[in-house]
Amino acid sequence: MNRINIAIDGPAGAGKSTVARALAERLNILYLDTGAMYRALGLKALSLGVDPNDRAGVEAFLPATEVTVGYENGAQRTFLDGKDVSAAIREHPVSKAASDISKHPAVRMKMVELQRQIAAARDVVLDGRDIGSFVLPDAPFKFYLDARPEVRARRRYDELTAKGQTCDLAALQRDIEERDRNDKGRDFAPLKQAADAVRVDTSDLSAEEVTQKLLEAVRGRKA
Ligand code: C5P
Repeated sequence: MNRINIAIDGPAGAGKSTVARALAERLNILYLDTGAMYRALGLKALSLGVDPNDRAGVEAFLPATEVTVGYENGAQRTFLDGKDVSAAIREHPVSKAASDISKHPAVRMKMVELQRQIAAARDVVLDGRDIGSFVLPDAPFKFYLDARPEVRARRRYDELTAKGQTCDLAALQRDIEERDRNDKGRDFAPLKQAADAVRVDTSDLSAEEVTQKLLEAVRGRKA
Protein backbone atom coordinates (compact mmCIF):
# COMPACT_ATOMS: atom_id res chain seq x y z
CA MET A 1 0.00 0.00 0.00
CA ASN A 2 1.27 3.47 -0.82
CA ARG A 3 1.22 5.53 2.33
CA ILE A 4 1.11 9.31 2.17
CA ASN A 5 4.17 10.06 4.29
CA ILE A 6 5.20 13.70 4.24
CA ALA A 7 8.54 14.60 5.81
CA ILE A 8 9.13 18.18 6.92
CA ASP A 9 12.57 18.95 8.32
CA GLY A 10 14.43 22.09 9.21
CA PRO A 11 15.89 24.10 12.09
CA ALA A 12 13.96 25.51 15.07
CA GLY A 13 11.52 28.27 14.24
CA ALA A 14 11.43 27.60 10.48
CA GLY A 15 7.66 27.13 10.76
CA LYS A 16 7.60 23.34 10.52
CA SER A 17 5.02 22.56 13.19
CA THR A 18 2.50 25.22 12.15
CA VAL A 19 2.72 24.20 8.51
CA ALA A 20 2.79 20.45 9.24
CA ARG A 21 -0.31 20.77 11.41
CA ALA A 22 -2.16 22.80 8.76
CA LEU A 23 -1.13 20.45 5.97
CA ALA A 24 -2.29 17.39 7.92
CA GLU A 25 -5.61 19.08 8.62
CA ARG A 26 -6.20 19.96 4.94
CA LEU A 27 -5.28 16.45 3.83
CA ASN A 28 -7.21 14.95 6.72
CA ILE A 29 -4.26 12.84 7.85
CA LEU A 30 -2.27 12.58 11.08
CA TYR A 31 0.37 15.07 12.21
CA LEU A 32 3.29 13.66 14.18
CA ASP A 33 5.51 16.12 16.03
CA THR A 34 8.70 14.09 16.50
CA GLY A 35 10.45 16.88 18.44
CA ALA A 36 7.92 16.32 21.23
CA MET A 37 9.34 12.83 21.75
CA TYR A 38 12.91 14.09 22.24
CA ARG A 39 11.55 16.84 24.47
CA ALA A 40 9.85 14.22 26.67
CA LEU A 41 13.20 12.44 27.12
CA GLY A 42 14.93 15.77 27.80
CA LEU A 43 12.32 16.49 30.45
CA LYS A 44 12.92 13.11 32.05
CA ALA A 45 16.66 13.74 32.27
CA LEU A 46 16.07 17.15 33.85
CA SER A 47 13.58 15.75 36.36
CA LEU A 48 16.00 12.95 37.34
CA GLY A 49 18.90 15.37 37.63
CA VAL A 50 20.78 13.55 34.85
CA ASP A 51 22.86 15.72 32.49
CA PRO A 52 21.33 15.10 29.02
CA ASN A 53 24.88 15.08 27.61
CA ASP A 54 25.86 12.20 29.89
CA ARG A 55 25.49 9.22 27.59
CA ALA A 56 25.87 6.55 30.31
CA GLY A 57 23.46 8.38 32.62
CA VAL A 58 20.87 8.64 29.83
CA GLU A 59 21.33 5.06 28.70
CA ALA A 60 20.71 3.95 32.29
CA PHE A 61 17.16 5.31 32.43
CA LEU A 62 16.28 4.83 28.74
CA PRO A 63 15.20 1.14 28.74
CA ALA A 64 12.63 1.68 31.49
CA THR A 65 11.33 4.89 29.90
CA GLU A 66 8.22 4.97 27.80
CA VAL A 67 7.35 7.77 25.39
CA THR A 68 4.03 7.48 23.59
CA VAL A 69 1.76 9.80 21.66
CA GLY A 70 -2.01 9.96 21.52
CA TYR A 71 -4.54 12.22 19.87
CA GLU A 72 -7.28 14.31 21.45
CA ASN A 73 -9.59 16.16 19.06
CA GLY A 74 -6.91 15.79 16.41
CA ALA A 75 -4.19 17.34 18.60
CA GLN A 76 -1.14 15.33 19.64
CA ARG A 77 -0.67 14.59 23.32
CA THR A 78 2.74 13.36 24.41
CA PHE A 79 3.08 10.95 27.32
CA LEU A 80 6.14 10.19 29.40
CA ASP A 81 5.85 7.02 31.46
CA GLY A 82 2.09 7.28 31.17
CA LYS A 83 1.87 10.93 32.23
CA ASP A 84 0.68 13.66 29.86
CA VAL A 85 3.65 16.03 29.53
CA SER A 86 2.37 18.00 26.51
CA ALA A 87 2.57 21.34 28.33
CA ALA A 88 5.72 20.69 30.38
CA ILE A 89 7.83 19.83 27.33
CA ARG A 90 7.26 23.34 25.91
CA GLU A 91 9.12 25.03 28.78
CA HIS A 92 12.21 26.80 27.52
CA PRO A 93 14.94 24.74 29.34
CA VAL A 94 13.52 21.56 27.82
CA SER A 95 14.47 22.73 24.29
CA LYS A 96 18.19 22.58 25.00
CA ALA A 97 17.84 19.35 27.00
CA ALA A 98 16.03 17.78 24.02
CA SER A 99 18.76 18.90 21.64
CA ASP A 100 21.49 17.53 23.94
CA ILE A 101 19.83 14.20 24.62
CA SER A 102 18.93 13.63 20.98
CA LYS A 103 22.56 13.17 19.96
CA HIS A 104 22.83 9.76 21.65
CA PRO A 105 22.31 6.97 19.09
CA ALA A 106 20.38 4.81 21.59
CA VAL A 107 17.93 7.65 22.16
CA ARG A 108 17.46 8.26 18.46
CA MET A 109 16.99 4.59 17.58
CA LYS A 110 14.30 4.19 20.24
CA MET A 111 12.39 7.24 18.98
CA VAL A 112 12.96 6.45 15.29
CA GLU A 113 11.50 2.96 15.73
CA LEU A 114 8.31 4.46 17.13
CA GLN A 115 8.17 7.05 14.33
CA ARG A 116 8.59 4.39 11.67
CA GLN A 117 5.86 2.24 13.21
CA ILE A 118 3.41 5.15 13.17
CA ALA A 119 4.32 6.11 9.60
CA ALA A 120 3.89 2.53 8.39
CA ALA A 121 0.42 2.28 9.89
CA ARG A 122 -1.05 5.65 8.93
CA ASP A 123 -0.92 8.45 6.39
CA VAL A 124 1.02 11.08 8.27
CA VAL A 125 2.88 14.38 8.11
CA LEU A 126 5.98 14.20 10.32
CA ASP A 127 8.11 17.14 11.29
CA GLY A 128 11.60 16.89 12.72
CA ARG A 129 15.26 17.12 11.82
CA ASP A 130 16.09 13.80 10.15
CA ILE A 131 12.77 12.54 8.81
CA GLY A 132 13.60 12.80 5.09
CA SER A 133 17.28 11.97 5.52
CA PHE A 134 17.10 9.08 7.99
CA VAL A 135 13.74 8.08 9.46
CA LEU A 136 11.84 7.73 6.16
CA PRO A 137 14.38 7.92 3.33
CA ASP A 138 11.72 6.62 0.92
CA ALA A 139 9.00 9.10 1.90
CA PRO A 140 7.30 10.25 -1.31
CA PHE A 141 7.15 13.88 -0.14
CA LYS A 142 10.04 15.67 1.51
CA PHE A 143 10.37 19.33 2.39
CA TYR A 144 13.09 21.30 4.11
CA LEU A 145 11.95 24.58 5.65
CA ASP A 146 14.44 27.23 6.62
CA ALA A 147 14.40 30.93 7.54
CA ARG A 148 16.83 33.62 8.58
CA PRO A 149 17.93 33.20 12.24
CA GLU A 150 16.47 36.55 13.34
CA VAL A 151 13.09 35.63 11.86
CA ARG A 152 13.15 32.26 13.57
CA ALA A 153 14.04 33.84 16.93
CA ARG A 154 11.22 36.38 16.57
CA ARG A 155 8.71 33.59 15.88
CA ARG A 156 9.77 31.68 18.99
CA TYR A 157 9.64 34.90 20.99
CA ASP A 158 6.08 35.62 19.86
CA GLU A 159 5.08 32.02 20.58
CA LEU A 160 6.51 31.99 24.10
CA THR A 161 5.26 35.46 25.09
CA ALA A 162 1.77 34.56 23.80
CA LYS A 163 1.87 31.72 26.33
CA GLY A 164 2.82 34.16 29.09
CA GLN A 165 6.48 33.08 29.32
CA THR A 166 9.01 35.87 29.66
CA CYS A 167 12.06 35.77 27.42
CA ASP A 168 14.76 37.90 25.88
CA LEU A 169 14.83 38.09 22.09
CA ALA A 170 18.63 38.28 21.73
CA ALA A 171 19.14 35.40 24.17
CA LEU A 172 16.55 33.36 22.29
CA GLN A 173 18.40 33.90 19.01
CA ARG A 174 21.65 32.76 20.62
CA ASP A 175 19.90 29.67 22.01
CA ILE A 176 18.39 28.83 18.63
CA GLU A 177 21.75 29.20 16.88
CA GLU A 178 23.41 27.02 19.49
CA ARG A 179 20.70 24.39 19.08
CA ASP A 180 21.15 24.49 15.27
CA ARG A 181 24.90 23.94 15.65
CA ASN A 182 24.22 21.07 18.02
CA ASP A 183 21.62 19.49 15.71
CA LYS A 184 23.67 19.92 12.53
CA GLY A 185 26.93 18.86 14.15
CA ARG A 186 25.98 15.60 15.81
CA ASP A 187 27.49 12.43 14.35
CA PHE A 188 24.36 10.31 14.16
CA ALA A 189 21.43 11.42 11.95
CA PRO A 190 22.13 15.17 12.10
CA LEU A 191 19.81 17.90 10.88
CA LYS A 192 20.28 18.05 7.14
CA GLN A 193 18.37 18.50 3.93
CA ALA A 194 17.74 15.24 2.12
CA ALA A 195 19.04 15.37 -1.46
CA ASP A 196 15.51 14.95 -2.82
CA ALA A 197 13.78 17.40 -0.44
CA VAL A 198 12.16 20.59 -1.71
CA ARG A 199 13.66 23.56 0.12
CA VAL A 200 11.42 26.47 1.09
CA ASP A 201 12.73 29.66 2.69
CA THR A 202 9.85 30.78 4.89
CA SER A 203 11.43 34.08 6.07
CA ASP A 204 9.14 36.30 4.03
CA LEU A 205 6.13 34.02 3.71
CA SER A 206 3.10 33.61 5.96
CA ALA A 207 2.28 30.18 7.37
CA GLU A 208 -0.69 30.04 4.99
CA GLU A 209 1.52 30.78 1.98
CA VAL A 210 3.94 28.03 2.95
CA THR A 211 1.08 25.60 3.56
CA GLN A 212 -0.33 26.37 0.11
CA LYS A 213 3.05 25.81 -1.52
CA LEU A 214 3.41 22.40 0.11
CA LEU A 215 -0.19 21.48 -0.59
CA GLU A 216 0.26 22.29 -4.28
CA ALA A 217 3.42 20.19 -4.42
CA VAL A 218 1.68 17.23 -2.76
CA ARG A 219 -1.52 17.48 -4.81
CA GLY A 220 0.42 18.11 -8.02
CA ARG A 221 2.42 14.95 -7.63
CA LYS A 222 -0.46 12.82 -6.42
CA ALA A 223 -2.63 13.77 -9.42
O1 C5P B 1 11.20 20.46 16.95
P1 C5P B 1 11.60 20.79 18.36
O2 C5P B 1 12.21 22.13 18.51
O3 C5P B 1 10.48 20.56 19.32
O4 C5P B 1 12.73 19.70 18.70
C1 C5P B 1 13.46 19.74 19.90
C2 C5P B 1 14.82 19.09 19.67
O5 C5P B 1 14.62 17.70 19.43
C3 C5P B 1 15.60 19.59 18.47
O6 C5P B 1 16.44 20.69 18.77
C4 C5P B 1 16.42 18.39 18.05
O7 C5P B 1 17.65 18.32 18.72
C5 C5P B 1 15.58 17.21 18.51
N1 C5P B 1 14.94 16.56 17.38
C6 C5P B 1 15.68 15.64 16.67
N2 C5P B 1 15.11 14.93 15.65
C7 C5P B 1 13.83 15.11 15.31
C8 C5P B 1 13.06 16.08 16.00
C9 C5P B 1 13.66 16.80 17.03
O8 C5P B 1 16.86 15.45 16.94
N3 C5P B 1 13.30 14.37 14.36
